[in-house]
Amino acid sequence: MRRMLFAIMLCCGFVSADSRADDAPTPETKPSDVTTDKKSAAKKKTPPQKLFTGEVVFLREALKRKGIKSFSEFDKQIALETPAGELIPIIPDWRGRAFYQDKRLRHRKVDLVGYRRKGVPYLQVLMVFAYNEKGERQYMDYWCEICAIPMYEIKPCDCCQAPTELRFQTRDLPGYLSKKPDTKLRFLKSRGKTSSAATGQ
Ligand SMILES: [Zn+2]
Repeated sequence: MRRMLFAIMLCCGFVSADSRADDAPTPETKPSDVTTDKKSAAKKKTPPQKLFTGEVVFLREALKRKGIKSFSEFDKQIALETPAGELIPIIPDWRGRAFYQDKRLRHRKVDLVGYRRKGVPYLQVLMVFAYNEKGERQYMDYWCEICAIPMYEIKPCDCCQAPTELRFQTRDLPGYLSKKPDTKLRFLKSRGKTSSAATGQ
């Protein structure tokens, strides 16, 4: 009988300790946040996703075009050049790294879904869309035929270690983006029709 009681107490002790441990890392949630964001706590910390349109280029080349000389320390730095001429350097993280690895993604019109943190000039890319010669927006990833899983940088498949292939799928931008690129798309489409020879841009 005593043993049983002891066991029950121990059990309860563990349970309460567990629940406390579970509660500990959870940040305080404001009631207003609960309604606006049902996702994880980590997501609350990231700024809202936005659409960044332009062309991905080497920063040093782009600076040179603007008459700004820089040395070889900038050789690897990749940036998005917007239609307004703004240069936004891209962070080589799990998604942005592909622009550093794959020249097929550079010097072409792209729509990048991502964000910039306050006080940080760098763009953190989450989704990559590139336009083909017909002016169609296509979602980009690297695909493993064997495992049927997408990857986001050039490397062997995480699962089977086979090489992956660059894949483009015609797809609309995610609906949650507030900015509507309708006018830009029309512009690009008309541009594609009028200058079909400009594929090597
Ligand atoms: Zn695979």
